This record gives sequence, C-alpha cells and structure tokens, in this order.
Amino acid sequence: MTKTPQNGVVTQPQTGWDVYLRLLSYVRGHWPMFIVAFAGFALYAGSQTAAAKWLESFIDAVESGNLDQRFWLALAILLIFFVRGIGTLLGNYGFSYVARAVVSRLRCQMFDHLLVLPCSFYQQHTSSELLSKLTYNVEQVTGAATDALKTAVREGLTVLGLFGYMLFLNWKLTLLFVAVAPLVGGVVALASKRLRRLSHGIQDSVGDISASASEAIKGYQVVRVFGGAESERARFNKASERNRRQFMKMVVTQSVTTPIIQMLVAAVVALLTFIAMSPALVASMSTGQFIAFISAASLMAKPIRQLTEINSTVQKGIAAAESFFQLFDEIPEKNSGSVILTDAKGRVEFRDVSFTYPKSESQALKNVSFFIEPGETVALVGRSGSGKSTLAGLLPRFYDVQQGEILLDDRPLSDYTLESLRNQIALVNQHVVLFEGTIAENIAYGALSGASEEAIRAAADAAMVTEFAERLPDGLNTLIGENGLLLSGGQRQRIAIARAILKDAPLLILDEATSALDTESERFIQTALEHVIKDRSTLVIAHRLSTIERADRILVMEQGVVVEQGSHAELLAQGGSYARLYNMQFNQD
Ligand code: ATP
Ligand code: MG
Repeated sequence: MTKTPQNGVVTQPQTGWDVYLRLLSYVRGHWPMFIVAFAGFALYAGSQTAAAKWLESFIDAVESGNLDQRFWLALAILLIFFVRGIGTLLGNYGFSYVARAVVSRLRCQMFDHLLVLPCSFYQQHTSSELLSKLTYNVEQVTGAATDALKTAVREGLTVLGLFGYMLFLNWKLTLLFVAVAPLVGGVVALASKRLRRLSHGIQDSVGDISASASEAIKGYQVVRVFGGAESERARFNKASERNRRQFMKMVVTQSVTTPIIQMLVAAVVALLTFIAMSPALVASMSTGQFIAFISAASLMAKPIRQLTEINSTVQKGIAAAESFFQLFDEIPEKNSGSVILTDAKGRVEFRDVSFTYPKSESQALKNVSFFIEPGETVALVGRSGSGKSTLAGLLPRFYDVQQGEILLDDRPLSDYTLESLRNQIALVNQHVVLFEGTIAENIAYGALSGASEEAIRAAADAAMVTEFAERLPDGLNTLIGENGLLLSGGQRQRIAIARAILKDAPLLILDEATSALDTESERFIQTALEHVIKDRSTLVIAHRLSTIERADRILVMEQGVVVEQGSHAELLAQGGSYARLYNMQFNQD
C-alpha cells in the first residue's frame, strides 16, 4: 500500500515492526502502568510453570511415600491460584488502561491533524473515507492493542516459562522444540503478510461502503427522481460483496494457519513422547520429572494456539495503525509566518498572481493584478467557472499562489500567522455551511461563541434572520438540524451573512451572498450590507449586476484573466464585456 500524498513524496511502505514500534512510542508516559501490567502477566505465567512443577513434586512425593508433604502441597495449590488471580487482575486492568489511553490519543491526534491539513488534502479524500478511518480503523487498533496484546504477553510469557522449565528438566529433549521454531515462524510470517494485505482491502471496502451509503442518503431526492436506486444498489452491493470476500479470505488464511502450526507442535510432542519413552531416558529422569515434562510440553499447545490465533487481530491492528500514521505524515498547512496581524487596515493587493489547482492541468488564474484600498468595495463579475471563487479563496490562504504575490497591509500573506490572518476575514461562502445547533449558535460560531446576546440579535436583525426566526417555535434558539436541513436556501444564506456581520472583521468576502434571495429580501439585505461594507474592505462576487453597481471598482473575469477593470460608469462607457453583460441582464429584467 504505497500512497502518494499531495506533496508528491512517496511514503515508504513500513514493515509491521516499524509500525508496532511507532505504536509503542504512544505508550510513553504510561510506562509505570505498562510495567505493572507486564508484571501481572509475568505472575500469571509463573503460576502456570509452578503448576507443572507442582505436578512433579506431587508425583515424586507419592512415589517416594513422602506423605507428610501433603500440607505444603495443598497450600501450594491455593498459593498458585492466588498469585494467578492477582496476576490476571493486574495484567487485564493495566493493559486495558494503557491500550485505551493509546487508542484515545490516536483518535484525538487524527482529529487534530484533520483540522490543520490543507484544502488540497480534503479534495483527495472523501469525508466517508476519513470518517471510516476515525471509527472502523480505530476499532481495529483497539483490538490489537487490548485483547491481542494481553493474549500475546500472557501466553507469550507462559510459553517462555514452560519452555524454561523444560530446558531445566531436560535441555536436550527441549531443543527439539527449537528445531521446529523456524518452521512455525515461517508459517506465521507468511500468514501475517497476507492478513495485513487483506486487512487493508477490508479497510478500503469499509470506506467504500460508507461512501456509497452516505451519498445515497444525502442525495435521496435525486436518487429517487432520476431513477438512481438501481445503480446505487449495485454500487453498494459491490462494496459490501468485496468486503465479505476479503473477510472470508482472511478467515481461510487464519483457519489454515492455526491447524498447520498445531500439527507442527503436535509432531514435536509426538516425537518427544517417542524419544522420552526410550528406556535410557526414562531411567535418567524421575517419574515426576518425566510426567511434568510431558505435561509442560502439552500445556504449551494452548498458548501457542492462542498466539497464532491473535495474529489476525494483530495484523488488522497494524494495518489500521499504518493508515493512521500515513495520515499523520501528511504535511499540514504551511504556517511559517510570524507576524501576528491585529486590526488590519485592509489594503489588499494582488500582484501578477497566477494559480493552478493541485492535480489540475490548466491555470485557474492568470496574471491577476488589482488592489483594494482600505474601506473600498471591489466586485468580481464573470461567467461561471471564470475563477471568481478561486480568487476569493486565496485571501484566507486556502491555497498558496504559485506565482506572483498577494499583499495585505503591504506585507505578503505568508508573513502572517494563518490564525491571525483568518481572524481578520469574514467570509460568506458560495456553499453555506451550517452546524448542528441553534440559529444563535450558528451565528456566533467558533471564536464568536462568546458574543453577547444583544450582538447576536443585532447581527440577526441586520441580516434579516430575525424576520423568519420570529416565526419559529424557539426564535433564535431553534435547532436547525444537521447542516440547517430544516431551513430554506435563502434562510441559510441569511444566517451565514449574520455570522459575517457579527464577526465585524476588517476584510469581508461575499461569494454570491445574495443569490438565493428573492428580489425584496435581497434589497433589504443590500441595505444592511451597505451598512457593513462601508467601513471595511470588501470583495463581492455576484451574478446579479444590480448588487454590484455601487462598488468602487469592478473586475470582469474571463477564464482566469481580469479582462476589464473600472467603475460601473467607466466600464459601461468602454462598451466591452461588462457593457454587454449589463445590457443583457438589463433587458431581461
Ligand atoms: P461560479 O460563478 O460558477 O461560482 P467561479 O468563477 O467561482 O464560478 P471557480 O470556482 O473559481 O469559478 O472555478 C474556476 C475554475 O477552477 C473552474 O474551471 C473550475 O473547474 C476549476 N476549479 C474550481 N475548484 C477546483 C478544485 N478544487 N480543483 C480543481 N479545479 C477547480
Ligand atoms: Mg464561485
């Protein structure tokens, strides 16, 4: 799984071990708990070995008629189980504690990282894909970090303890186990590689499933009217089927591996039994030792089986962690400026700016030059796709220009810290974004959330939000549902305008801010906006020319180029594209 991130750097495929080590670095800060947990399972493993040793002592005592040991032997059982219980408790609690802490940190780190990734990242990944990472993949890491880790440590230590005891009893016989180890290792390694690849496939398919479902759900009206149900169903079924197949492949891999390894272990135990029962060997060991040895060997079968069984969980976790780390390695938005901008005067200048979207062939803006003096209003007009929104998006630095320079208060935008730059800008997007919550919360969103009730009300009044909010059951405190589902297009737009008014920033960008409004509301808002526009630099984008006639300057754009620049009267007098556009609309109206 080699992905090329937007910066063009190919991330090296990491080995499972690298990923595990990186995951382990998250344990830092939890070392004490980790050690306690480890010690707990060491106690558990020790008690298992002690049980084998107990068997030896018991049989030897019976055989030698040493019956006065019975008190100690009986007490030993209690002690062994007590220690085992304490060990299990410490181990389970400790590892769960650490694992949950790691998982929660991973999840929060992913979210934090999402908040600083550049716009271009969001264009290459769908929201469902990212959501499924946050939910499904996190679960996979949890599985590997909790149950699998517990089993690995507990059973791993048990195997080690039993193995050590067997070495102590008869090291030559025990070396037979060592002979089979590479074989077991080989099988596990092969299976791991395959499991991890399948797991990546499953993660992708889960992403596909949620993407397909979320589109069909969000676009349910279009799906019904345009007869999309069949193709949506086919797409969903395909993703679901792919998911099922990958899972089954995983189950097969898993189900084949475990018996193979068990057969290998059984073969060794069989061979052990055969050799151990040779007269020479039997003579050299006490009956107790002999039985304890064979029991220890067969006691190992269960932990070895469990260890191989968790392999799939571990591989799933590693594959999921890999996908996290890949995301963490994506480079955040460039934020190298150090100047903290406060109270900008609002002088904007574009100097010969050209811009191409990442992964796009053609330039979206070509040699654009213009300026906005503090307090001025500049309007952008031009046909759809001519680059107006692109131009506006460069000011808050959603993208950085490749050529030319954009200055704010006579300094390049990149000199300022991103946060302080964006603090100076209020923006009404072409696509209004609202959040789950009340109207008032949506107006006073984010950094504005401390705004006073009067301020919110004033903004709501100016943007004519009050006009429709009054008729809602709870006024401004009415819940508007996910993305403002319960509102009309024009109502949503008015909330966005109120948000911008409340922000009261020195720089205002209005992208088609009034397009969804009827002529009357538009006129009202126009009056309100004129009020707001007066003492700040404003960039307005609109199709309806009546809303921009009063701008200080109008830029006419065509295919990324500013073809005309001037006031309404000047441009009309020139008789160029603007005059043609104007006459066309004027005649229509
Ligand atoms: P409209 O009036 O329809 O809103 P616009 O003037 O705002 O149009 P832009 O959105 O700036 O147009 O788009 C300018 C050009 O850039 C278009 O050709 C469009 O295809 C392209 N474009 C826009 N967004 C992206 C993007 N994220 N990635 C690649 N190309 C894009
Ligand atoms: Mg646009």
